[in-house]
Amino acid sequence: MSDLKRAHNFNPGPGVLPLEVLQEAQAELLDFKGTGMSVMEISHRSKEFEAVIQTAEADLRELLGIPSNYKVMFLQGGATLQFAMLPMNLRPAGASADYIVTGSWSKTAVKESKKLGAVHIAATTEAEGFNCIPASLDLDPKAAYLHFTSNETIHGVEFFNEPTPPAGVPLVCDTSSNFISRPIDVSKYALLYAGAQKNAGPSGVTVVIIRDDMIERVPANLPVMLDYKTLAESGSLHNTPPSFAIYMVGLVFKWAKKQGGLAAVEKNNRVKAGLVYNAIDESGGFYRGHAKPEARSLMNVPFRLPSEELEDTFAKEAKKENLIGLKGHRSVGGMRASIYNAMDLAGTQELVKFMKDFQKKNG
Ligand SMILES: *Cc1c(COP(=O)(O)O)cnc(C)c1O
Repeated sequence: MSDLKRAHNFNPGPGVLPLEVLQEAQAELLDFKGTGMSVMEISHRSKEFEAVIQTAEADLRELLGIPSNYKVMFLQGGATLQFAMLPMNLRPAGASADYIVTGSWSKTAVKESKKLGAVHIAATTEAEGFNCIPASLDLDPKAAYLHFTSNETIHGVEFFNEPTPPAGVPLVCDTSSNFISRPIDVSKYALLYAGAQKNAGPSGVTVVIIRDDMIERVPANLPVMLDYKTLAESGSLHNTPPSFAIYMVGLVFKWAKKQGGLAAVEKNNRVKAGLVYNAIDESGGFYRGHAKPEARSLMNVPFRLPSEELEDTFAKEAKKENLIGLKGHRSVGGMRASIYNAMDLAGTQELVKFMKDFQKKNG
């Protein structure tokens, strides 16, 4: 394995996974726990798989401090399916739901929700180019729920304090790209969802954490695969779950626990993000960050260079240095460094060194 060449992977998603997790999966691939089969080849009703899914849930409960009156589900369809499933389950006929729009992903959530019922925009920062957290909210006290996106993966804008809904209005969060990146108080939320492939595992599984009283709202006669009640009560085993992806997120949860839990993970993430933002701030305007300083994401750092030509050169030369996935989303342009939990300090330092060298040559 000495010739193993791993990229410094700044991809926005699917993103980097911890090397130890990949090695563990590799070591167990052909013979999972003495079964003589891979975890992909065993029944989802076997005792071996039962241990996989139960341990994944228990480790996540420990990491996030999930109270006992919440269910954890491992679903398919990505965070995108949650954009629709959420209103189908939690917005009663005729009711309206509040949405805070801070970037592309919350905008897409609104678009999907509108197909199924009424939406009220509690705030939007589109006029500011999605570079900040809204200063004030226009909240409907009768809303079915208040939805926000805790980290906008494309615009690099992150909430560090949850918005406060009116009394009795459930708070719902798309936390796909900052899931398990730092501690949160789950008891403030009625529902959280996260596609795993940004910060918690491979694509194919979406984690949904739902408070028990929300399950009571689920209308009768939803198709089973869209019905939180059926899925929660079956322990995500109504049908065949994405078993390999669940196994992988389970390994990532164990890895995060080994780092010292989410407080330690956050500390690392703040160090890494600090290095990249400092390189931007100390560049004298050569690099320009997209988000306002107080809204800067710890996970995704979009930034521009003086010209599109330089941006192309930056991406090409970075690739030669084994720094991969730095091209920004077409809607924002420029570059984006995604520095998820599994991006190590050394990789981040390589990026910062490259940024400084690049500026020296081209600034
Ligand atoms: C990637 C992403 C999504 C979409 O996730 P899929 O799993 O591809 O459906 C939704 N919200 C956020 C914040 C994302 O980063």
